[in-house]
Formats: sequence, C-alpha cells, structure tokens
Amino acid sequence: MRNKINYTQNQLNRSNILRYRHGWIKKQLNDPKAQILPILNEKNLIRNINDNLSIVSFSMKDLVKISYQENDIFFLGFNEDIPFFCIDCSTIDPLLLDSIKPVLTEFANLKKIAPLLTRSDSSLLAHAKGISFWHQQNKYCGKCGNKTISKIGGNMRRCSKLSCQNELFPQVSPAVIMLIENTTIKGNSPHCLLGRHKDWPTGRYSTLAGFVEIGETIEEAVKREVLEEVGIITNNTVYVTSQPWPFPSSLMLGFNTNALTSEITLDKTELEDARWFSVDEILSNQWPDLQKRVTTDQCESLSDYLIWSWVQKVTTNKLLQTKKEI
Ligand SMILES: [Zn+2]
Repeated sequence: MRNKINYTQNQLNRSNILRYRHGWIKKQLNDPKAQILPILNEKNLIRNINDNLSIVSFSMKDLVKISYQENDIFFLGFNEDIPFFCIDCSTIDPLLLDSIKPVLTEFANLKKIAPLLTRSDSSLLAHAKGISFWHQQNKYCGKCGNKTISKIGGNMRRCSKLSCQNELFPQVSPAVIMLIENTTIKGNSPHCLLGRHKDWPTGRYSTLAGFVEIGETIEEAVKREVLEEVGIITNNTVYVTSQPWPFPSSLMLGFNTNALTSEITLDKTELEDARWFSVDEILSNQWPDLQKRVTTDQCESLSDYLIWSWVQKVTTNKLLQTKKEI
C-alpha cells in the first residue's frame, strides 16, 4: 500500500498536562537524554553524508558552551523516554553556533530534504519548524505592542505588560486541497481537473488548493475555491485525509469532490492553465511529472496522494467492469 505522506507520523507525546507543572519543563531539559533540534531561518539542522540524511540535535551540554535565550527553547514532547525540544538559533552568534555544530551538518530546507527522510523524522522536523515559526511571528503582543514571553514550554506566549497579559496560543492556517472528478465528459470516462501556476516547472499540473476563509465551513471553502479558480460547480465533497504543511504554517485538508459542470473558466491571477486529465493521460509519457508522482513509492504531498488514490479507484473500477463483461 502506497500511503506514505510526508509529515504525517508525529509520534511525540506532547505531555500537555504535565508541562503545566512548575519546574517540570526545566527538569526535562536537563535530562541527559534530551534532544534539542536547532532551527535557523526556518531551516532544520541535518547531517548529510552522500544523501543519507539524519536528524541532528544539541544537548544542554552543547548549549551551556554558548550564550542562548532560554525563551527560545520549546518543548515538543516525548518519544518513549526521550524528551524532544527545539531551539530558535536566530539570536545565537553565528560563530558560536558553528562551534557547537557537528561536522558534516547543515541547515536545510525541509521541503527539499523530506523525501530523503523517514516519515517520523520528517514529521518531527515539521513540528519543530512549525512551532519555531509561530514563536518568531508572535514576539509582540497584538493588543498593546509589548514583548511576549514563551510559557508552558512554548504552548503559549503571554504579554509581558502586567496590565495586559494577553495570551496567544500556537495556530495553523487551514487550507483545502481537492481532487475534482467529472464522469460525464469525453465519452463518459472519468476525468480529474488539475491546474498549474505560471512559475511551476514545465509540465507540472496539480490539484487546486486554497485557504479556508473566516465564516465558512471547509466544504464551503472547497466549493468556493473551485468556482473562483476554474468556474466549475461542485457537490458531494468528501473529506479524505490531512497533512501538516509547515511552509510556513498550514494544515492541508484533502477532499474528493464531484464536478457538475465541465467548462473551465480560468482565474488568470491564480492559474496559468487547468485541464481535465484521464487516468491514461496521467500514466502516459506525455506527462512525466504526473506519471512519476503516481508511480513512485512515496507521496510527498497530499496532492500526490489524492491524484494517486483517484488513479487507483478508476483503474480498479475499470478492471471490475471488464470482469463483469466477461
Ligand atoms: Zn499586551
């Protein structure tokens, strides 16, 4: 079964009750087993030996050699008895950071390296990157403009002004991504609608996606996005699965939806092109990018998974139909 989607195997126990206890976070941080994952400019530290990638972490023994801000360390959770943290390294002197950085390690773009990591490792790094980004973006209070301070190991920030004490909690932005199917066009054979942005590599087409807006359900967001981007009316929207997408802070919610119309009216500010694809076209040499995405072992994105699942469904239905006819 080809069901691997990057960033979807977070195994950490976040200890969301224990972390409120006074002194508990500090105790975990001083555990010799504690692993502190460094983040710098939204990049994760990894060891890369001939494309064999592994996660790199600091210990408190490393960090006491340099000056760091305790307010920049965030507790992620336990994997068995190992406490995992991350540290935002942006306030650390680059030379000092280099002095504790192990050899053959580099800060890397997670989107690029995730295909080379195990799913649990990509999930762990996504968690670290995501929480670090949220803290970066919320250093000041939105009510009064004073500095905020990380609390509960990073599960909250509180305004430092005594008369304000506004509390902020980590958030993600929900986005919908959908596979649109039409079974009534081109000889009543199933087709799916895929689009492309103008800055994508030649030949790349993918599922449509967009952010959920305030005051709408996720199903309404699917309907609206599809209508806005390609002018297609849809119904029977069914949730499939989700994927954390820390680029920088989304949660992708995947859907299948049924097209009631087929004529595409493109929103040129969003898309360069959109068209209907049959399974045969997706699997053909004419579209090598799509062919690769549905035939390799791994779904890097939820979009890959939705297209792959649709190809599987249509192919299976076709086989069953052929058997019936025999
Ligand atoms: Zn405030």
